[in-house]
Amino acid sequence: MKNIITGFLPDEFKGLLVKFKQPLYRATQILEWIYKKKVISFSEMTNLSKDLKQILDDKLEILALKQLLKLKSKKDNTVKYAFNTNDRQIIESVFIPTQKRATICISTQAGCAYGCIFCASGKKGFKRNLTVAEIVGQVLLVKNDNPERQITNIVIMGMGEPLANYANTIKSLKIFNSPDCFGIGARKITLSTCGLCPQIIDLAKEGIQIERSISLHAAEDKLRSKLMPINRKYPLNELIKTVKKYTQEANRIVTFEYIIINAINDSKEDALKLSKLLKGFQAKVNIIPFNPVQAVDYLPVTKEALEAFCEVLEKNKTNYTIRRSRGSDIQGACGQLRASLEKN
Ligand code: SAH
Repeated sequence: MKNIITGFLPDEFKGLLVKFKQPLYRATQILEWIYKKKVISFSEMTNLSKDLKQILDDKLEILALKQLLKLKSKKDNTVKYAFNTNDRQIIESVFIPTQKRATICISTQAGCAYGCIFCASGKKGFKRNLTVAEIVGQVLLVKNDNPERQITNIVIMGMGEPLANYANTIKSLKIFNSPDCFGIGARKITLSTCGLCPQIIDLAKEGIQIERSISLHAAEDKLRSKLMPINRKYPLNELIKTVKKYTQEANRIVTFEYIIINAINDSKEDALKLSKLLKGFQAKVNIIPFNPVQAVDYLPVTKEALEAFCEVLEKNKTNYTIRRSRGSDIQGACGQLRASLEKN
């Protein structure tokens, strides 16, 4: 099988070219074409010799993904992509432009093993971890397809659980970070996890200054276990203890995500429990309106309930923001597009 360039760190790629008996500067030139000049075919790399292009064509590929579908939201210009891997897994990425930022949301697994009740990704089970080339390729393809905007942020909030594909996710982060590749600062990258405690600690030890987001969605064990089965393995007290330890060590604010769902977790009591749970540590809650998905009969929160919920948070001095739902007309929620494509 051919090596795929988007799966390599710059130093590894240099090592590979040395094996092909090429000078090191060739590696820099090729990476420049791919990551800076948006060229993804060797034949267009005009400063390379014909012989070298032949070697590259024979031995290497640039990408491990092909675009299957692209849907652009008429409401807010969000663009959703479905990509096919070489073994025909369907994965999703989203381009989210706002006035200030241009964010790419990416997947780390085909499917998901964690089965959160509100999420479309887990509905068809887990297929496999994505390779580094498949994770990085999403950013490259979405970036190239939106040349009018400079990519400012990456969020790892697409399909799958990034900390369950730990090594490939960490290596991809380094490629996003590298000035020879995307040059996106660690603080502009957010990783979202359903709460795998051991890996949260491992990640803290990596010393990568990325933003961390913890999917909470409930402030008591009974409800959280119903919404997110992982809570049975790592219940709230363990999760909160782990996250607290991490924030103290790294002196960083952690974000908790709270999908707010009508009549499930949107009462004033729920808000009070949330405030109590997060009392006394540097945390922010991102309140996310539930995006309806197939096969789940939950409803979005009402405006009144949302207001009452936030009032309680405010009264209790809980730091919160409300995430504006985007791409709802293009199946913007995690795993929705794949679910509908596979049905057909
Ligand atoms: N496994 C990781 C990352 C993928 S899900 C995790 O659990 O955090 C990341 C986020 O997708 C969730 O926290 C939530 O913000 C969003 N999400 C998933 N399903 C959603 C839905 N139906 N409505 C709104 N947001 C959803």
